[in-house]
Amino acid sequence: MSALPSEATSEATIPRRPLGVMAALQQELGDLLSAMRAEGAVETITHGRRDYHIGTVHGAPCVVTLARVGKVAAAATVSALIHAFDVEAIVFTGVAGGVGSGVHVGDVVVGETLLQHDMNAEPLFPRHEIPLLARSRFDADHALAQALAAACERFIAEEGPELTARFKAALPRLETALPQVHRGLVISGDQFVASAAAVGALRALLPDALAVEMEGAAIAQVCHEYDVPCAVVRTISDTADEHASTSFSSFLADIAGTYSTGILKRFLAGYRPLAR
Ligand code: SAH
Repeated sequence: MSALPSEATSEATIPRRPLGVMAALQQELGDLLSAMRAEGAVETITHGRRDYHIGTVHGAPCVVTLARVGKVAAAATVSALIHAFDVEAIVFTGVAGGVGSGVHVGDVVVGETLLQHDMNAEPLFPRHEIPLLARSRFDADHALAQALAAACERFIAEEGPELTARFKAALPRLETALPQVHRGLVISGDQFVASAAAVGALRALLPDALAVEMEGAAIAQVCHEYDVPCAVVRTISDTADEHASTSFSSFLADIAGTYSTGILKRFLAGYRPLAR
């Protein structure tokens, strides 16, 4: 790295640590990588079979990567972001199954708390508790979650009518209502939930769950252990019932990227390093 000119202001001499931005699947990143390339040089480092792209997006220094699917994949990737890339915080963007009664396909859920619904070391530990950590729920960083939710609200206010027109065949509810932004509990497990019985069982056990996916709570656990702030935003691609796999596939192909692009653009443009 070249030395900074001696007249540089003290602000310029403090290097900004990057933000880690992750998704499980390519489609969930939207236009993030092309926006990074359009903004300047991108360095790509392959580590543990994943590509980490280092550059600036919408003014924010970022390391962007794909975790692939599941809790182990997500935990390993987040650990690399923390240790090999020194990220100051982590944001995950992707799709999820809707679980909460008012959560519809096309809505967005910002995780305030995350839990691993398939963790069960009973009778040694209470259901869902992570052994030896004495907790089952991990909090997202409040300021990050707040900023993500604000970006989602702006995205829907500004692009919602166009979304409803473009995607109303895939999202019939959008004929009459704009997508909603929900905040609360996101649950994760190594399972694609795709039956009324399975989603019903999750609702009975965890009545406050809004969405189910396969990575978020693993990321939140690792971030908790290393004191790294994190947040998770999920667009609802299906309702975790018998229609889940067709709904998920068509949503992923056509719509997921539009949401991620619109949400991340607004979030990153307003992103400031966390004061702590
Ligand atoms: N690679 C495969 C499998 C994706 S698994 C494919 O492309 O078809 C589903 C992904 O979407 C996971 O990353 C998970 O976090 C999220 N997801 C969406 N709907 C889900 C549901 N109903 N249950 C669990 N995860 C879901």
